[in-house]
Amino acid sequence: MKMSKMLMPTLREVPADAEITSHQLMLRAGMIKKMASGVYNQLPMGIRVFKKIENIIREELEKKGCQEILCSGLIPAELWKESGRWDVMGAEMMRLKDRNARDFCLGPTHEEVFTDIIRQEITSYKQLPLNLYQIQVKYRDERRPRFGVMRTKTFTMKDAYSFDTDEAGLDKSYNDMYDAYTNIFARCQLNNSPVQADSGAIGGSTSAEFMVKSEVGEDEVVFCSSCDYAANMEKAESVNSVVEKEEMMELTEINTPGVHTIEALEKFFNLPANKFAKTLVYEADGKTVVVVVRGDREVNETKVANAVGEVIEFELAREEVVNAVTGACVGFAGPIGLKADYVFIDKEVADQNNLVIGANKDEYHIQNANYGRDFEGTVGDFRNVTVGDKCTKCGNALEIARGVEVGHIFKLGTKYSEAMGATYIDKDGKSKPIIMGCYGIGVERTAAAVIEQHHDENGIVWPLSIAPYQLVVVPVNIKKAEHMEAAEKIYADLQAMGVEVLLDDRDERAGVKFKDAELIGIPMRITVGKDIVDGKVEFKLRDAQDKEVITLEEIKTRVEAEFTKHNVKLG
Ligand code: ATP
Ligand code: MG
Repeated sequence: MKMSKMLMPTLREVPADAEITSHQLMLRAGMIKKMASGVYNQLPMGIRVFKKIENIIREELEKKGCQEILCSGLIPAELWKESGRWDVMGAEMMRLKDRNARDFCLGPTHEEVFTDIIRQEITSYKQLPLNLYQIQVKYRDERRPRFGVMRTKTFTMKDAYSFDTDEAGLDKSYNDMYDAYTNIFARCQLNNSPVQADSGAIGGSTSAEFMVKSEVGEDEVVFCSSCDYAANMEKAESVNSVVEKEEMMELTEINTPGVHTIEALEKFFNLPANKFAKTLVYEADGKTVVVVVRGDREVNETKVANAVGEVIEFELAREEVVNAVTGACVGFAGPIGLKADYVFIDKEVADQNNLVIGANKDEYHIQNANYGRDFEGTVGDFRNVTVGDKCTKCGNALEIARGVEVGHIFKLGTKYSEAMGATYIDKDGKSKPIIMGCYGIGVERTAAAVIEQHHDENGIVWPLSIAPYQLVVVPVNIKKAEHMEAAEKIYADLQAMGVEVLLDDRDERAGVKFKDAELIGIPMRITVGKDIVDGKVEFKLRDAQDKEVITLEEIKTRVEAEFTKHNVKLG
């Protein structure tokens, strides 16, 4: 492509409203253009990268026997009503009506649609297993779209769905996808770790998120400092930190006027935070839920919501609800004598003696409260991991990092096939629900994550595998016939070899051209300047400091060597 003919609106200045590097660089490299909050158009430099990622995904999935289809993004409400998700999806789902006032949505994900296709086409075990995927635009009315294409209201997702007859089959489908994802992200040179993730209330199912460690990540990931344990904060567990057991002492009520935070209580009682239990009240779809964790801990709301079951709305209770459940103001809640639908006690609270708790009476606390003797509840893990907690797998210290989720694989089981009647006749002649898995990758978010990991002060440093163009030929002065003629010939020869080449034939200073080539991140650059009289050009890699001077005859071999080194196919 000749750059004089391209739409490539590069920017020298950092756009003021772009907070993170990948967003800034995508705008500056002219890859994307904002149309509304969380809504972007893709320009030539952008779409070429996104398409490359899509093609890597295609190749790796097809190696595992997945087949591509394409479903409609416009989905009738009936399918979502059958699965029960028309109500569950809430405000994130973009809903609309057709001219006959029939309800539709713009698909945020496609479990229902794929299940609908399968229930019509599959009747026998002989037709299974199957793994189908599509690469398609999704719509989600995100509460907080931000960070450019990292979180948008419309984005491209690869979503795949597997259909099996038994758990062993599902395991294989899931493991195949795990492998495929590992290969896909490796080919994009994205350093990532698969982490155990929360699977919601469906129970028992396995799910993993492919996380890219990054300061700008919105998710918290717990990693073990010495073994391979890694889990999303929602799911992560740690060994109970046991405070030395004491003899149970007598319950004592203490007047604590105005003392209702853990810090104030620590001062008042002159005790460390782990000698207190804090009691929080939540509302889950109209039910009241109480959870008790140690004073030095944070409640993990996902774990609590999962313990309740399939919950749509889950939030801290309003003041009047706290008053009704505890009989006291906020700040004096405790586990003794509650009126709640659910009471959950974190294991550390149950294991420890003589805790200070709220008295459920204004301006009072109780000392020496003991689980079993003084209060009851369902004991489990309801807390967040904190740095330094011990790993449940190896006992070493856990660390917390931020991460960007680029992909997600999930064992669904029979949730959708049962709700929607997707069954098959098994060998034994019986009708059974198909066992499903679902698997997603965000295309634009993956590109953004690659930029977060591959850039320098001059711009993007694309891996050869997903660069918008692989090489740029820069004639230093387009008015000099010998520069232009040689550049045109190199350009044509490399194109004939199957290299994706740019020719910077713009009437600009060489410095401007170099800056643009660096900003847009083209992996290889050939500069045609004064040495061309001796049949020599300059060859430079985007990620190297040094320039090489090579002869025209050496160009082909030099370029091929890069393709071989990075395991990228020519043409
Ligand atoms: P998140 O927790 O970030 O909202 P999610 O759990 O909703 O993600 P999935 O439904 O599993 O995401 O979607 C699969 C993939 O689609 C994600 O791993 C991510 O790469 C991408 N994705 C999800 N939401 C967005 C979005 N709003 N903008 C861009 N990409 C997204
Ligand atoms: Mg989401």
